[in-house]
Amino acid sequence: MAQTTDTALLDGGRRLPLVEDFYTIQGEGYHAGKPAYFIRLGGCDVGCRWCDAKYTWNPRLYPPTAIETVVARALSCPAQAIVITGGEPLLYPLDALTGRLRDEGLEIFLETSGTHPFSGAFDWVCLSPKRQHPPLDEAYARADELKVIVETEDDFAWAERNAARVGEACRLYLQPEWSRSEQMMPAIVEYAKAHPEWNVSIQTHKYMRIP
Ligand code: SF4
Repeated sequence: MAQTTDTALLDGGRRLPLVEDFYTIQGEGYHAGKPAYFIRLGGCDVGCRWCDAKYTWNPRLYPPTAIETVVARALSCPAQAIVITGGEPLLYPLDALTGRLRDEGLEIFLETSGTHPFSGAFDWVCLSPKRQHPPLDEAYARADELKVIVETEDDFAWAERNAARVGEACRLYLQPEWSRSEQMMPAIVEYAKAHPEWNVSIQTHKYMRIP
C-alpha cells in the first residue's frame, strides 16, 4: 500500500508530491512520438510486480511542491502538451493543476490505472487497467485510450474484458510488459492481426534512450 501524504500539506491540490518533471517525447500509446512535458507525481497503491517506476510508490519521499513552480517550468520550454503521470496521479485533487495548465493553453493528457476517483479536466485519458487492482467504473467512461500491458497470453482475455467496458470511440492498445517483450511480441502481433480493433504499442522511449 502507498503511504499517504498529509492532505493538509497539499492545500487542495495547489501543492502536489512531485517526483520529477521534464520535457521529452511521449513514447507509448496514441500520442507516441509527440513532444510533451511530463509531470510525475509520487504515490501508487496498485503494486504491479513489473512496475518500472517503483521509486514513485511512497509519496512521503516527495515533498509537496507548489503547482506554480511546475507550471512555470513547463512554460519555460516549447511544450504544447503535458502528460500527468505517476505513480497514480488520481490519488490527488488535480483541478488546480489542470486549471492552471488549461489557462496557459496547454493540452493535458492523463496516464492512470483508474483506481481512484477522477478530478481535473483532461484532453486525453489513457487508462491502463491492472488485474490486481481493477479500475473504478467511472474510469472506463472517461478513457480515450485503453492500454493493456501484456505479460502472458492470459492477458488477452483480460484486455477484452476491459475493452467491453470502454466507449466506442476509445482506442485500444496492447503493449508488451518490457521484460517479456521479446517473448510476447509474436503473440501480440498475431492477436492484433486477428482482432484489428486492437493496436500494438511499444515503449519507443526505451529504444530512444530517453526518459
Ligand atoms: S499502476 Fe503504474 S505506477 Fe502503479 S505499480 Fe502499476 S505500473 Fe507502477
